Amino acid sequence: MELENDPELAHFFAFSLDLFAVADQNAFFTRLNPAWERTLGFSLEYLMSKPYYDFVHPDDRDVTIIEKGELASGRAVMNFENRYQAKDGSWKWLSWVAVPQKDGTVYAVARDITQQREEKQQILELLKKLEKTNQQLDHFAFVVSHDLKSPLRAIMNLAEWIMEDLGDQPNTAVEKHIALLKQRVDGMYSMINDLLEYSRVGRTETPTENVDLNELLREITQHLDSPPGFKVVVPAELPHLNARKLEVKHLLQNLIDNAIKYKAKTDGHVRITCKPIDHFWLFEVEDNGIGINPMHHQRIFQLFQRLNPSLGVDGTGVGLALAKRIVELAGGQIWVRSSEGQGASFFFTWPQ
Ligand code: ADP
Repeated sequence: MELENDPELAHFFAFSLDLFAVADQNAFFTRLNPAWERTLGFSLEYLMSKPYYDFVHPDDRDVTIIEKGELASGRAVMNFENRYQAKDGSWKWLSWVAVPQKDGTVYAVARDITQQREEKQQILELLKKLEKTNQQLDHFAFVVSHDLKSPLRAIMNLAEWIMEDLGDQPNTAVEKHIALLKQRVDGMYSMINDLLEYSRVGRTETPTENVDLNELLREITQHLDSPPGFKVVVPAELPHLNARKLEVKHLLQNLIDNAIKYKAKTDGHVRITCKPIDHFWLFEVEDNGIGINPMHHQRIFQLFQRLNPSLGVDGTGVGLALAKRIVELAGGQIWVRSSEGQGASFFFTWPQ
């Protein structure tokens, strides 16, 4: 039906935001809807006065000619993108669907995707910047941790010299304070070492390998500092992971150590299970310890966050942050299900 004879169709043609075009075999537009003028700024007459190649960005001309060849041989073109010149000198990205007719004419619809492309570009640039900032932060943590060690060493030496100077005039108050000072310095050493470990995880160039978890857990459980009566339950058969062995060791070791550190009674236990789920392994490390109030479930995965310093349990608050980093860099997720006094279950996924 002719457009002129169908006012409804004519309205759609006139008001469409998409650009409609009919082109001939010689690459001239023979009919365009007003969206063209609104998008590019040129009059329709002008756009139809020259081959459409003349409006295409020089860098996109060759691919446009190839697409025209496709149309000439009777094939439709879907989602082809090229840039068209606008009257104000800018370039508009158009995404095309074009269908050839038997007589060689082409019916086409184009959509202005300039803004979409710009937004995508901005996101890519932001991601690049973010990656760079992350690298700088890791580097910063690494350098600072290294540099902090030497003044700490000096403080430790000074403390020892003071003790030596006391020599034959013992002073219990001073000795007590020096002992406390050394304890604090030791704590700070541990924090720095853990921080170094944390920053190393994202920076490592070590390739991944096939890690046999059965063997790894044997290694971990052999050296556990667990009190008598505490049970560590490991499944008979665990999978192999594509991972860095040291990282998986840190991850499991931290979760098991925590189950021991935060036990509630003498007959405590930690039970590890693993099952396949989609393309991941789902691990659970479950204990019957003191548990964690749900309001802290996010916080415990942040650096240096500890909930129970009054328990007098050794720790720096880095273990779970490190575990989270290791799991997430591998493409998995980690979370906890627990409430106070009810034990805790730490879950993590690892790609199969
Ligand atoms: P750290 O054990 O060195 O304090 P983590 O990052 O491993 O640091 O854990 C952070 C905090 O989360 C701990 O201080 C503790 O309060 C809590 N937590 C971790 N694991 C458990 C657990 N299995 N049961 C109860 N609380 C836990």
